[in-house]
Amino acid sequence: MFSARERFLDTNENTGQVQTHSNLKYRFRLNFYDTPPIEDITIEEFETCALDRLRVLAEIESSFARNRPYDELKTITLAQCQKYLPLHSSSAITVDTDAERRKDHIGHFVLRLAFCRSEELRRRFVKAETALFRIRYESDDREERGKFLGSRDFDWIKVSDGERKVYKEQLAAAAPTAKEVNVDNENYYKVKWTRVPDLVEKRRVFLKGGYAYVPSREQSSIVFQEFQTSLTKALEMTAKALPRLDEDTRIVPILNNLSQGFLAGVSSEWSTASSTEGDGITADMVEDLARRHFPACMRNLQETMRRDRHLKHFGRWQYGLFLKASRWVLGLPIEEAIAFWRKSFSNIQEDKFNKEYRYNIRHLYGLEGKRANYPAKSCTQILTTDQPGSSDSHGCPYRHFSADNLQTALLSMYSSQGLTAADLPEIMNTVKAGHYHVACTRVFEITHASRGVKKGEGVGDGESVTHPNQYAARSRELERGKAEAAKAEADGDVVMG
Ligand code: SF4
Repeated sequence: MFSARERFLDTNENTGQVQTHSNLKYRFRLNFYDTPPIEDITIEEFETCALDRLRVLAEIESSFARNRPYDELKTITLAQCQKYLPLHSSSAITVDTDAERRKDHIGHFVLRLAFCRSEELRRRFVKAETALFRIRYESDDREERGKFLGSRDFDWIKVSDGERKVYKEQLAAAAPTAKEVNVDNENYYKVKWTRVPDLVEKRRVFLKGGYAYVPSREQSSIVFQEFQTSLTKALEMTAKALPRLDEDTRIVPILNNLSQGFLAGVSSEWSTASSTEGDGITADMVEDLARRHFPACMRNLQETMRRDRHLKHFGRWQYGLFLKASRWVLGLPIEEAIAFWRKSFSNIQEDKFNKEYRYNIRHLYGLEGKRANYPAKSCTQILTTDQPGSSDSHGCPYRHFSADNLQTALLSMYSSQGLTAADLPEIMNTVKAGHYHVACTRVFEITHASRGVKKGEGVGDGESVTHPNQYAARSRELERGKAEAAKAEADGDVVMG
């Protein structure tokens, strides 16, 4: 998969040797990714391994954008890992741990290729990967983690008993709380102070002669810093080697798609076509559903169409595929779609509609043209492709509206669902930082608070919005849940909280 030069560049710095597949063993759950996978893998595997990893990293990135406390970030990341990137400890005998670790290994290296291409992408990738490593490190089996640490040379020097006694007072002074002052029973390790900038910044280590004296309880800081430094270096080297890949027409489009993944997370519908089976909604239901369940991008299209009795090409494409998609409910059947568009384009003569628009709608459903089963657009696609001009209404309001227009639109769309002017500063700060789907997620939480959604819960399990259909589906699900609970109560059933 990687050339001999790339293998050399990524080789284990500690041994200075290129590892081959025959001695590349997944002995540990934790991985510093010193050596790339050098076996043959298919393009599908290349993409799947990377997408599943990106789902986890994108959620970590969203958590940073939302300033989630570390414990919350950890809980959400562990749940995402469980779903997309499970890594069991070596003692799990019923699980193919080698397959799990191979997937983790391949996914990491594919994403290196995608995220090495600009300084900004490298910085975000390293931050998210280091957080993932830390969470796995902290949740690792203690004994296994010890063996993993023993397998690497972290270049730390154990402080002798004599030296510890000499600096006892200074070592005790560096402990953050009195509870942690037990210099006699603590092991200390010396490393160059530049390797633990976080501990130096927080004044949690004693500094002497260019060395930081790190207590064993803070040893993990050295490990995380080492992971971060070596990944940063490796990404820079990969970036230098990358230009030769530019001619590969199979891989480059995949890498381009992957590097967009941080912009709005990765939707589960990323590469899946949607079918036309589904929830079976009808043309008459759309307007009401839009008002109650659609995200801002689709509400804007619905409202523009109601006002203008028309939508331009990209707007029809975005909205039509959204209404058609069934994987995350809706699933407007073709006959209903034609009825819906016909009714909505009420200023257009029957002849013109049949000639110009009926064909387009059938095309969306794969019944004309190249008969493709086009999937609904994810947030990433809406945010990054077919940029709208000033007279267009497709796109994502959080990204494509001016700040003033966005605030006015949000209040007009969602004030009946609980959004107030007081909520806007928080939303606008997130928009300003470029985290559009995070702003959309916050609006979802606010407008579904009456259905029990709390801040930080996102569209479920802390997940952010990554697809307009996921937003609408979750909204409908919450409404059904509430209706069922109300019915059960009316029927006299006991509803457990
Ligand atoms: S973030 Fe996604 S779902 Fe929300 S408005 Fe933008 S494109 Fe639509």
